[in-house]
Amino acid sequence: MLEVSNLVKHFPAARERGSVVHAVDGVSFAVRRGSVFGLVGESGCGKSTCARTIIRIYEPTSGRIVVDSVDCTRMNERELRPLRRKMQMIFQDPYSSLNARMTVRDIIAEPLRAHKLAGSRKELDDAVREALEGVGLNSGHANRYAHEFSGGQRQRVGIARALVMKPEIIICDEPISALDVSIQAQVVNMLKDFQERLGLTYLFIAHDLSMVRYISDIVGVMYLGRLVEVCPAAEIYASPLHPYTRGLLQAIPIPSVRKTPRTERAIEGDIPSSIHPPGGCRFHTRCGHRMPVCGEIFPELKSMGGEHDVACHLY
Ligand code: SF4
Repeated sequence: MLEVSNLVKHFPAARERGSVVHAVDGVSFAVRRGSVFGLVGESGCGKSTCARTIIRIYEPTSGRIVVDSVDCTRMNERELRPLRRKMQMIFQDPYSSLNARMTVRDIIAEPLRAHKLAGSRKELDDAVREALEGVGLNSGHANRYAHEFSGGQRQRVGIARALVMKPEIIICDEPISALDVSIQAQVVNMLKDFQERLGLTYLFIAHDLSMVRYISDIVGVMYLGRLVEVCPAAEIYASPLHPYTRGLLQAIPIPSVRKTPRTERAIEGDIPSSIHPPGGCRFHTRCGHRMPVCGEIFPELKSMGGEHDVACHLY
């Protein structure tokens, strides 16, 4: 359903004239129709930029994006319109992603109007009501403004706005990280329920590996703009291979979720600058297993059997 090949997104570095930020640097993965691909990594690893480039909020620097067998990498805005309907995004921050001057009705109706998908006012009202009820709100909420809702309710409005378009793919960009812990599970369960019931395809982005494991079929671990490990969600807990993945799992405080032994070395130091990323393996400045080759040669992702790929000189 979604195929990303060697995707690169560089930005001019604001603080260093002539330099670039290597936000996404050669990322490839495929998401099967009706499945969930979870993309995980620390803040600043490039996962949100990757999502925004796929949905063409950002122009890709290079690489290829194919949606439902259609190459949309260089499409102009007019050519992208049918794809925009098929592909929706749920944003991280429900506080800033909803227009404060619009009622909830107008927020949800806006994409339907833009794509001329509702002929009459009644059709529009019915679609808004159905979308609100689908996410556990009621039609009485339609005339309120976003600031009148809690964070969880706002994110439900954001989900309703995406679902009202009857999309096939939804990019969920850290949809729960701005919410109270008490309602994160509710929102994830709701997203999982929609995905299963409607056969949706998700690209689900989060920094919390336990949440990604819960909702995903396949997990991709990103570090400094590159994928370092891709594997089935169950396997990433049972047999993680990359030292970075093992370090992320080590940081999970719940032993029943954390399957790696405590003997695995913790990740050292901070994530380096993406303006001057380390040569060779980008993780070598923090890796407890580094060898001389690690600083010299970039390890390509290689298959470890099945759907498990890893980019590390240890294998
Ligand atoms: Fe560590 Fe070397 Fe593997 Fe990179 S390639 S993760 S530095 S062992």
